[in-house]
Amino acid sequence: MKFVDEAVIKVEAGDGGNGCVSFRREKYVPRGGPNGGDGGDGGHVFMVADTNLNTLVDYRFTKFYKAERGQNGMSSDCTGARGADITLRVPVGTRITDMGTGEIIGDLRKEGETICVARGGIHGFGNTHFKSATNQAPRQKTDGTPGERRQLKLEMLLVSDVGLCGLPNAGKSTFVRTVSAAKPKVADYPFTTLIPSLGVVKTTYGRSFVIEDIPGLIEGAAEGAGLGHRFLKHLERCRVLVHLVDLKPVDGSDPIRNAQVIESELRQYAHELYEKPRWLVGNKSDLCQEGEADELIAAIAAAMEVKPEKTFVISALDRTGVDKLIFELQDLVDEMKKSESLQQETPKAEEFVWTEPQEYNSKVETDDSDDDFADDDGPQFIYRK
Ligand code: GDP
Ligand code: MG
Repeated sequence: MKFVDEAVIKVEAGDGGNGCVSFRREKYVPRGGPNGGDGGDGGHVFMVADTNLNTLVDYRFTKFYKAERGQNGMSSDCTGARGADITLRVPVGTRITDMGTGEIIGDLRKEGETICVARGGIHGFGNTHFKSATNQAPRQKTDGTPGERRQLKLEMLLVSDVGLCGLPNAGKSTFVRTVSAAKPKVADYPFTTLIPSLGVVKTTYGRSFVIEDIPGLIEGAAEGAGLGHRFLKHLERCRVLVHLVDLKPVDGSDPIRNAQVIESELRQYAHELYEKPRWLVGNKSDLCQEGEADELIAAIAAAMEVKPEKTFVISALDRTGVDKLIFELQDLVDEMKKSESLQQETPKAEEFVWTEPQEYNSKVETDDSDDDFADDDGPQFIYRK
C-alpha cells in the first residue's frame, strides 16, 4: 500500500438557490398576491475522521469535491430544496489547512470527529418575502449567496505514544522489531526505513503503547535535507521522544556530536518537539567494553542542551536493557495519559467549526418584466430568474 500523508484538494460548497418572483393566478381571484418562494440553502462540505483509513491516497487521485446547489424558489410559495451535503472521510490524525489563509482550520484526532470545511450559500428570498401593506405586488427578490470555495492541504500525522528519533543506523528499526510485532526493514546502510511505521509494544497485563519509527534524521533535516523533514511532523503527536544514539558508529563518527545533530534538528523544527519529554538511549552496548557504555552515555547526556530526563544503555540486537526501558516507558505513557484525560486538553472539533453567522444576500433585485394584472383567468405567469 502506498503511504500518502499529504494531499491538496479543492472543495466547493453549494450555492444558495435564488428567490422567485411570481403572482397568484386563479379564476375569480383577481389580483392574487405574490407567491414566489425562497430558494434552498446550498450543501456544506464536511470532513470526518475515520479509523478505517490510514492514508490520504484517495485525495491524490480525486482533487475536487463539490456539494449540491440549493434549488431555486418556485411559484405557489414553493421553497427550493436544500442542496445535499457531502462528507469526506479522512484518517484519524488529519490536519486541515486553508491554503488561502495558511490557517489551520481543523485537526481531527478522534474517530467520528467532524468539521465543516466549506459552508453552503444561503438561500435568496422570493417576492412573497417582500410583501407589505405598502408593497402589495412586490417584484423584488434576492439571489442565493455563493457557497464557500477553498483549497485545502490535508496532512495525516501519525498518532503514537513513543516517537523514536536518531541518526540513520542508530538501530531504531532494530529496536522496534525487538519490542513489537512490527517489522520495519533493518540493514547496515542509512535510509532503509523510507516511511514511518508504527508498532504496538505489549508489556504486562494487557498494557501496551504505540511506538513510532521514522526514517532517519540527518543534519539539515529540519530545513529539508534527506527524508527526515517530511517525517518529523509525525513526531508532533507522540507523547515521549526516545533519542537513540549509536554508541559505536561503524563510520567512526563521534557519538556526542551525532547526538547534538539530532538535538539541533528537533530545536529547529518546532518547539513542541523540542519540549517534549525526551529520554536518551545509547544503543549497541554489545559492541562496548565493560563500563564503556555507561561512561559514554553520561558524556553524551552532559553535552546535551536540554538534559534528558532519563538515560539508558541497551543493545537492541541482543535485548540487553531493553525490558527495563520499555517498562519504564509504559509507566510514563500511562501516567501522561491519565493526566491528559484529567486536563481534557485535546481540542474539540467544534472549536474549529465556524461560528460567524452567514449573511443573506442584501442585493435586492426587481423583476420588471411586463405583467398583466387584468387578465384574471389567463395562464399562470411565473417570473423567475
Ligand atoms: P536505523 O537506521 O536507525 O533504523 O537502524 P537499523 O535498525 O536499520 O540498524 C542499523 C544497523 O545497526 C543494522 O545493521 C543493525 O543490525 C545494527 N544494529 C542495530 N542495533 C544493534 C545493536 O544493539 N548491536 C549491534 N551490534 N548492532 C546493531
Ligand atoms: Mg530504520
